[in-house]
Amino acid sequence: MRKPFVAGNWKMNTDSHTSVKLVERIACGSEETAGQSITVAVCPPFVYLQAVAKALSSSSIAVGSQDVYFEREGAFTGEMLKDVGCSYCLCGHSERRHVIGESDELINKKVAAAIAGGLLPILCVGELLEEREASQTNEVVTRQVKEGLAGLIAEKIQAVTIAYEPVWAIGTGLTATPEQAQEVHDFIRKLLGQMYNKKLAGEIRILYGGSVKPDNAADLMSQKDIDGSLVGGASLKADDFLAIIQAAV
Ligand code: PEP
Repeated sequence: MRKPFVAGNWKMNTDSHTSVKLVERIACGSEETAGQSITVAVCPPFVYLQAVAKALSSSSIAVGSQDVYFEREGAFTGEMLKDVGCSYCLCGHSERRHVIGESDELINKKVAAAIAGGLLPILCVGELLEEREASQTNEVVTRQVKEGLAGLIAEKIQAVTIAYEPVWAIGTGLTATPEQAQEVHDFIRKLLGQMYNKKLAGEIRILYGGSVKPDNAADLMSQKDIDGSLVGGASLKADDFLAIIQAAV
């Protein structure tokens, strides 16, 4: 019963002209599916959020931010992001965890602040290559999910989407096999069932991210617990992103 969800993370790409052109093409190509049979969101760089949201004002494609800050005042608060047209925000993307050094505790504050500010957080989790090789995937993901959602009661959790993104697959061209991804998604769903309840765990969308492309999207998305994808590189090409959306419907 979970509606598929495909989100594009543009990172620090595009400019004021190409960001708008890109969403116009995505909106045009997904007119019949976006919003109805699938949730589609794009996460442009902060500086283009407003222009992209404006270009999408009559479309069903949602806008998300690539991060959020947990304080009410100052830059990047949930309220500000809502004000410029965001519905979603990424929290704990691997680049913020491993390049900027964000802790689970900080990410948890961001998830909570996003919900309090009326945003729908996409909590990103995933193991490093050495953690997978040391068979620590479940342990890492358990910590990231438990600490990322700490203190949030079931009612709040309904706002959350989880994105499982093995770090070794992000931007590397290496993708988890559908079976590898399904195994972790199933593990996360069971974990959510233990933390909250089975019904709620069955309703939360868990996206896969890590070198999703038009040619591997359908196989990944055919897995029982994979509800869509968080797409980096391929979300910058309208035709590729549209093909991934189509594969998820
Ligand atoms: C990402 O940035 O979240 C991502 C999954 O990137 P890519 O699709 O390029 O691996």
